[in-house]
Amino acid sequence: MRTKIVAGNWKLNNTKEESKTLIKDLKKAIEDKKLKNTRVIVAPTFVNLASSVKTAKKSKIEVVAQNMHQAKNGAYTGEVSAEMLKAIGVKTVILGHSERRTYFNETDAALAEKVNTILENKMETIFCFGELLEDRKADKHFEVVESQLSNALFHLKGADFKSIILAYEPVWAIGTGETASPEQAQEMHAFIRSIIEKKYTKEVADNVSILYGGSVKPANAEEIFSKPDVDGGLIGGAALKVADFTAIIKAI
Ligand code: PEP
Repeated sequence: MRTKIVAGNWKLNNTKEESKTLIKDLKKAIEDKKLKNTRVIVAPTFVNLASSVKTAKKSKIEVVAQNMHQAKNGAYTGEVSAEMLKAIGVKTVILGHSERRTYFNETDAALAEKVNTILENKMETIFCFGELLEDRKADKHFEVVESQLSNALFHLKGADFKSIILAYEPVWAIGTGETASPEQAQEMHAFIRSIIEKKYTKEVADNVSILYGGSVKPANAEEIFSKPDVDGGLIGGAALKVADFTAIIKAI
């Protein structure tokens, strides 16, 4: 059975105290929920990771990073390594978010290196990808997604996919209020599974969790999550409010 996951990407939001409060409130809000086979994840900014890990201890909530550098160490001012994250109890890292691709010029090639670093360190990634609006309008969305996956991930072995969570995030739906319809999400998730099966095996394809991200809210979460190939969501804006995030978790 595939693991269900609801992950909140906090982006450049929340001070140390605000992060602690949000985690504490979330802990309370979900403590009596039956969340069998469901992971609840939050991704605070780097400086608040260590304190967030402490606050989330002995709870269902996992704290993950929003990014990581591929090098072990060296002259990379402003960057953070896998080893540094592991040392504070962070085992999972979001990679390839569209905002990193757009504003920080992250390429598929750099992401392939980052994924290798994740695996060398026995960590896990939530790997994001998705097409631009112009790609979808030009009917190139399947092609774009296939090339993003193939460039950054398809050098891996099938067994490596145990450490990979995929997050399909059409860029036109991130932070815009515009969501892919549940049918559009299902269609793309089924396509992703089919190309993984073609490249690897049915077992690898059946076992990888594929999250949908892009303006998921309490009002649309249940319908999106009801689709057979959607295993949960990567949530931006709605993850900043405990009530909304809890409602989305309940919808899984
Ligand atoms: C995201 O940043 O990954 C995201 C999906 O954002 P939002 O939910 O705000 O669209």
